[in-house]
Amino acid sequence: MLDKIEKIKKNFEYDLQSDINATELKRKYLSKNSELYAILSNIKNLPPEERKHVGLQVNELKDYITSVIEQRSGHNITKTSYSHIDVTLPGKRHKLGTYHPNTLIAREMNNIFKSLGFSVYAGPEIETDEYVFEKLNLPKHHPARSLQDTLIIEDPEIILRSHTSSVEIRAMENEKLPLRIVVPGRAFRYEDLNQTNHFAFYQYEGLAVGKNITMADLKGTFEIFAKMFWGPETQIRIRAKYYPQVEPGCGLDVLCGFCHGKGCPVCKRRGWIEIAGGGMVHPNALRSVGIDPNIYSGFAFGIGFDRTVMQKYKIDDIRKLYDGTLY
Ligand SMILES: [Zn+2]
Repeated sequence: MLDKIEKIKKNFEYDLQSDINATELKRKYLSKNSELYAILSNIKNLPPEERKHVGLQVNELKDYITSVIEQRSGHNITKTSYSHIDVTLPGKRHKLGTYHPNTLIAREMNNIFKSLGFSVYAGPEIETDEYVFEKLNLPKHHPARSLQDTLIIEDPEIILRSHTSSVEIRAMENEKLPLRIVVPGRAFRYEDLNQTNHFAFYQYEGLAVGKNITMADLKGTFEIFAKMFWGPETQIRIRAKYYPQVEPGCGLDVLCGFCHGKGCPVCKRRGWIEIAGGGMVHPNALRSVGIDPNIYSGFAFGIGFDRTVMQKYKIDDIRKLYDGTLY
């Protein structure tokens, strides 16, 4: 047996003198058809006293041949190129995507208003003319109706809500006073698609109704929101503005964070950016839901939600928020 091992070694060294390549050497001396492999497989059948000695010799030769072939081939032949992979490690997790910017901003706003005692409220997107217009001080003949191109579902009484103020009416009808709610939700209008307009867009409205609620409460609420949302340095201003469902109505602006009031393309040279509209809930709107305007008062506001998201994430086209294109 030991002679055989010696013979294999000699043959191998003889072969090394020739130009036989590493692959061929490996096949001849280390494969399952090789003489060396035959000896290795046969060790277990040898008498115990011979087994140890032969095993030592044959393994020494095997190691010698392996190392020489490795040197000749320039790479490690005893391990595959995948040997660095630990197959017991857990696999890579697939990414499940991320939240839409609208979701993130709505949650951030919800948290701010919750900390001020507001609840998040929702209502139907398919509405009646009564809840979208009539009860909000917008009777059929009202000229302000022409400001909103409403999408009709079936007959003119069933419509897609053109603003989320309909939810405020439903909340005032269904909830006890005092009431403080915010309403993140979609609204729909017959609009051409362009960079700043979409036929389905988001609004973020707020409503507070109770005793002794004044414009000062609206100003204070908006100021706290603006500082928490845009940063503690944020300055606000309130301008008189007309909305049919409030009296008096106002526009709520924040000082442009890009130019600090000097005027730049972002604020269209105004120095201020209009963030929301609001005002005191019109007495007619309170009466329409059975609330006595001599006892109760309320303020309402609507934040331009898409515009706010676009400003926060520096998105330059509203269509990117809704078209689902993944680039
Ligand atoms: Zn500016």
